[in-house]
Amino acid sequence: MNPNYLLVAQRAKHQCEYCHAPEVIFNVAFEVDHIIPISKGGLDESPNWALACRVCNLRKLDYVDGFDPVNQQQVRLFNPRTDSWYEYFAVQGEAPFLLESTTSIGRATLDRLQMNAPLQLRARAQWITLGIFG
Ligand SMILES: [Zn+2]
Repeated sequence: MNPNYLLVAQRAKHQCEYCHAPEVIFNVAFEVDHIIPISKGGLDESPNWALACRVCNLRKLDYVDGFDPVNQQQVRLFNPRTDSWYEYFAVQGEAPFLLESTTSIGRATLDRLQMNAPLQLRARAQWITLGIFG
């Protein structure tokens, strides 16, 4: 396990800092993501760490940008350290509980991390039913 896991997980309240998956119902610890990958000059320091679920971390890989399908442009991804999740994302109030964004960065992140993929939607509906998504 990443030696910085506990610090990062507590700071994130054990919630994926991208899709807001609640770690409490998983049978595996979430991962310490480098927001700016080491391969792209990111530092292995606290301001560059984010808690990410396995799915988000696998989809983010070493990308730092994504495509906004509305404005048709490449923009940087959401940064959990400098951006407020609630300013970039909102969940629809009814099924299928899509995540939406009014920003290019939010839409590009939703697209890159496939945060509205069928399995994500299925899981999010359960988290909402259990009252552990927020
Ligand atoms: Zn996630």
